[in-house]
Amino acid sequence: MPDKPPPTLRLKIDREALGHNWRALDTLSGKAEAGAAVKADCYGLGVDTCVPVLRDAGAQQFFVAHWGEVEDVARHVPTSQIAVLHGPLTSEEASYARATSAVPVIDSLRQARLWLEGGGGLCHLMVDTGINRLGIGIDEIGEPLIAELNIDCLMSHLACADEDVPMNAAQLAAFNGVIGQIKHRRRSLANSAGIALGGNYHFDLTRPGLSLYGGIQRSELAELIRQVAYPEAAILQVRVLKAGDTVGYNATFTAAKDMRVGVVSLGYADGFLRSWAGGHLQHEGRTLSLLGKVSMDMVVVDLTEAPELVEGDWLSVPYFLPDAAQQTTLSQYELLTLLGTRFARQ
Ligand SMILES: *Cc1c(COP(=O)(O)O)cnc(C)c1O
Repeated sequence: MPDKPPPTLRLKIDREALGHNWRALDTLSGKAEAGAAVKADCYGLGVDTCVPVLRDAGAQQFFVAHWGEVEDVARHVPTSQIAVLHGPLTSEEASYARATSAVPVIDSLRQARLWLEGGGGLCHLMVDTGINRLGIGIDEIGEPLIAELNIDCLMSHLACADEDVPMNAAQLAAFNGVIGQIKHRRRSLANSAGIALGGNYHFDLTRPGLSLYGGIQRSELAELIRQVAYPEAAILQVRVLKAGDTVGYNATFTAAKDMRVGVVSLGYADGFLRSWAGGHLQHEGRTLSLLGKVSMDMVVVDLTEAPELVEGDWLSVPYFLPDAAQQTTLSQYELLTLLGTRFARQ
């Protein structure tokens, strides 16, 4: 097959902003060192683009969720710097950990047993302090099995770091209560939003994810964090509607007057969900309203404000995450991880 022609969707990654965001979060982490959550293909932005930037900025501890994510990240950093948050579910995964020297996060007594039975080795330990997702219970910390683990980092995860609620202090107190009960080298509690909660939450290692990629979940981060992801889509066709013409499935938009519109190569299969309806795309600061429903591969925009645009021209998706989240009612996490495989990441 010949080389593919370039796609009509591109996702520009501002590498400088990404490096800046890691350094800003590392500085905000005070005496603690910032790691980097790079799970889900760096929140959808691309491991091959983002991990080298994070590594060169200074990150030395990387977090993925699945064992299948290790290989891609390991092309750019030593495997021993990669931690797998889901831990070993099966003996195959435990063997894979030993064979690669990627470090499992042990999340339950069952996982501790599985890990030790296969020979053990360096691991991290997740303790549940209230989120009730993964992690051993505080009441399980005294189990002899846990004492046998060779624990690098003792971890817990905050449920509400993006809010000012008593649960943050409660989880912090619970984590502090556990620290004296188990041998370990380092401690880690804070995700992106948790870093902004202050020095008590930093311990030795922080685990930012969302804010590396431009997410802002607390006002303290607004001044520090820059937008990283800039999706763009090409105009496939320009058409002229007559007054009374309708646009798209179920004819939900009717033209009040004759108007020029653009059919754009962007749809819900690309992660541009129907919740964007009523929003807009942009061209050089001008707002181009979305007309009708979002289709699988297309949307239609009003070109009244940009009469010079023609087929093949590129439009920007307004992807400043706090605003886009408000527009769509999607979370900032969802907005990033939805971005589909048809985007050329560049
Ligand atoms: C995803 C994840 C993070 C990163 O969280 P953000 O809110 O994206 O900063 C940190 N720790 C754990 C355990 C995670 O699962």
